[in-house]
Amino acid sequence: MNQADERTANEYGERAADEDDEQSRLALSAHPLQRVGAYALAVLGKAASPEHLTPEAFEKAVKTVTDDAVRAALERDTKGEKGFWLKSSLSLFPNSKMNHLSNAKKSDETIRDAVQKWRECPEPQVRPAVACVLCGRDAVGFFGKVDVPLAESVLYRNSTPRGHAGMALCRPCLCSFYALPYGCRLTGGPSIALHSWDERFMARTLSRRVERNRQLIALGRADHRGIPAREVLALQALRHHEDRLTSGVELLVFSNNNRGQTLEIQSMEQPIAEWLRRSSRPPRRRGFPALLRAHATADRPGIVGLARNAFRSPDRIVGACSRYLTARLDQGEIRDDTAELAELCFSLTIEVMLMNQNEIAEIKAAGTQVAAWLKAENSAGKLREFNSTLKEQRRMRHWLMRRNIDALLDTANRIEGPLVTENQFRLLFDPEVEQAWFHRQLLIVSVVQRLHELDFKPGDRAEVAAEMAAEEKEHPEDIDYMKGEES
Ligand SMILES: [Zn+2]
Repeated sequence: MNQADERTANEYGERAADEDDEQSRLALSAHPLQRVGAYALAVLGKAASPEHLTPEAFEKAVKTVTDDAVRAALERDTKGEKGFWLKSSLSLFPNSKMNHLSNAKKSDETIRDAVQKWRECPEPQVRPAVACVLCGRDAVGFFGKVDVPLAESVLYRNSTPRGHAGMALCRPCLCSFYALPYGCRLTGGPSIALHSWDERFMARTLSRRVERNRQLIALGRADHRGIPAREVLALQALRHHEDRLTSGVELLVFSNNNRGQTLEIQSMEQPIAEWLRRSSRPPRRRGFPALLRAHATADRPGIVGLARNAFRSPDRIVGACSRYLTARLDQGEIRDDTAELAELCFSLTIEVMLMNQNEIAEIKAAGTQVAAWLKAENSAGKLREFNSTLKEQRRMRHWLMRRNIDALLDTANRIEGPLVTENQFRLLFDPEVEQAWFHRQLLIVSVVQRLHELDFKPGDRAEVAAEMAAEEKEHPEDIDYMKGEES
């Protein structure tokens, strides 16, 4: 061989090696499930992130995934003592060599060979000359629902080229899908994946999830802790995350099952996710137990209610807090945890709802005045009267106007100035003010917050409580009659 030939041969060899290398290097794509699987592979290969996974570590991680698939397949029975990983495969890789019905009658060796062959990378000569639809590098084949959850689903049709039953994928992207179950909360039915564009959050969250799943694989069982509400998984991950979140989080609940492919996506925006993260960690977490109590019902833990509100509509969190804070006002009672919860509530309005800070200051000022008036009256009866106006803005407005006049006519001058200024009235009741109803909720929170600071313990509390107990025994119609109300 002359020198020139030698150089060409070397270059060719290097290029081939580079190409092979490329098929052992993970790249993150825009597909959330590929990303979850890529992070899972990185954790299995003990790398800080998918980009840091060396080709050698990638091969080792892929081997772990294949070995676990073989071991699960050899169980044969999904209901067996160690059948959980196999059962989970039904909703990820249905009809694959791993869980084929005919496996029951096959020898260990046949099953092992079949699973390994299924997971092997197609030889270079049979690879199509097309690009991976996810990362743009050379694809190694077209893959359908046996390999890739939702590959042929209408839910993800945008990533499936026309005329092909499946997606053109490179090997690293394909292997990411094989590793996907390690990154999910497995239920035996639909799988739950938590995704974010915040890479640090992904690395940490997936690291914990993969470790947990590896324990479960070793045990062969489902998680004994039971399946929490899916939304709660997001809150658990946020509570563990130490850094500021740079993106929101998404919850993907999917099944690739034979009976039908399903995918549900719920999104939590960055501001509410970051607020929940900060609020559940020191130093702010002092108020978090109260936040949970505010969301608890007789048959549902507070964390579930809170998580659902966070995904669906964060302003409902303020509603739950104000209901909780006012629940015992009729008895003249201010809850002990009022200060912490009210503080959380106001931080939510500023950090998540991005409300105008001057307007919030105005509402708080009105709340301080109303609380001062109630404190001066020192009456549980008056507090109850105010509380009863909350449900109806017309009555609330009337009550506040009336107290304004009382305060102005008060010769003892117990309260300085009007209770509620003209501008504050506008913020609370003007139909042109879009969030007036929300302002009214905040007014209540600030009244209760201030009464708590003033250590409000009205003298007639026992009397009012007795009166209420008596009323409870009476028939509502009789009470109405005594009040002179007509129906
Ligand atoms: Zn790819």
